[in-house]
Amino acid sequence: MRAWTTLTVGAQETRALGRRLGELARPGLVVLLSGDLGAGKTCFAQGVADGLGTPTGTPVTSPSYTLLNIHHGRLPLYHFDLYRLSAVADLEELGYDEVAEGDGITLVEWADRLSVSLPASLRVELRHIDTSRRELRFQADDDDGAKLLAALAGTANTL
Ligand code: ADP
Ligand code: MG
Repeated sequence: MRAWTTLTVGAQETRALGRRLGELARPGLVVLLSGDLGAGKTCFAQGVADGLGTPTGTPVTSPSYTLLNIHHGRLPLYHFDLYRLSAVADLEELGYDEVAEGDGITLVEWADRLSVSLPASLRVELRHIDTSRRELRFQADDDDGAKLLAALAGTANTL
């Protein structure tokens, strides 16, 4: 499945979708999240951390001031927030390439602020509809992403 669009009502639904993705994720997965401030990117990332079995009590916050937060669940989760990134050189300094080519899961908020496009299996565009509703447009960019998306879409109605 190359593309899938869904609507969530309330932060819990977005989080549940992220959780399912975290449960399904295989080592090396890279997911890019885009959308305005408050669209739900961090909320989705919190769900992914849950799904990977990050110990409860570990806060998954918007890492806007740190650029990278690492969470240790079934697989390591590298959660980047590039909102304050000024140059691609900074991304290199953060060790992005080593992380993204490794065996963890990489999630990137605000990847669309970069002048270059990062390679990824999956892109998720979140759009604010109203106070509680968000549209999530998933796009798979390779076969791994397509398989994952089919599994995610296939079980989303059981969340
Ligand atoms: P971002 O990281 O994109 O800036 P956040 O995840 O930090 O956004 O914030 C999303 C905000 O919107 C939260 O306060 C959350 O409670 C609220 N919200 C309301 N409805 C939804 C929804 N359907 N999905 C995600 N967040 C929602
Ligand atoms: Mg955020």
